[in-house]
Amino acid sequence: MDTEKIIEQALKAGFTLAAPLDPKTIELLPEVRKMCEANTCHAYGTNWACPPACGTLEECAEKVKKFSRGIIVQTTGVLEDDFDSEAMLETSEKHKKTFSEFYEFLMENHSGELLALGAGGCTICKECTYPDEPCRFPDKMIVPMEGYGIFISDLCTKNNIKYNHGKGTITYVGCYLFK
Ligand code: SF4
Repeated sequence: MDTEKIIEQALKAGFTLAAPLDPKTIELLPEVRKMCEANTCHAYGTNWACPPACGTLEECAEKVKKFSRGIIVQTTGVLEDDFDSEAMLETSEKHKKTFSEFYEFLMENHSGELLALGAGGCTICKECTYPDEPCRFPDKMIVPMEGYGIFISDLCTKNNIKYNHGKGTITYVGCYLFK
């Protein structure tokens, strides 16, 4: 499938924005990985998709370099005020759902290898098997962009994509890489 067609389908799937991503603009930064280690999201070391289980930055770079094309997707929600946690959660859930569903759509409709980098740790299973048993769904598992050391707002800027959609909004971001 060509990139324009994939973007069209991503918008149809429910993302509020979808645009081309040049994989050459992806930088994997140790500073971002350090933020994961600080564990403010409480996901570090709790699932196969997050560091340290998702691999070293060098291993992540090896995976990223296989891809020549990609898209960035966003889900933006409107907040009543800066403390509107209900709308934040709702937008986050919507983004995760759309992201997993569209990943499945790509797996079924796009020939060739794919890499999906989402927002936050993998939540496919109620309880992750990490670290005692292997991942139950390695093909569906979604790794967070931050886990790969990606500084999200910077990546959007490098690809001429708006990240901040104004006061009173919140935006969740993900990307799909393909050949
Ligand atoms: S698919 Fe399940 S077992 Fe695998 S990383 Fe996600 S939550 Fe863990």
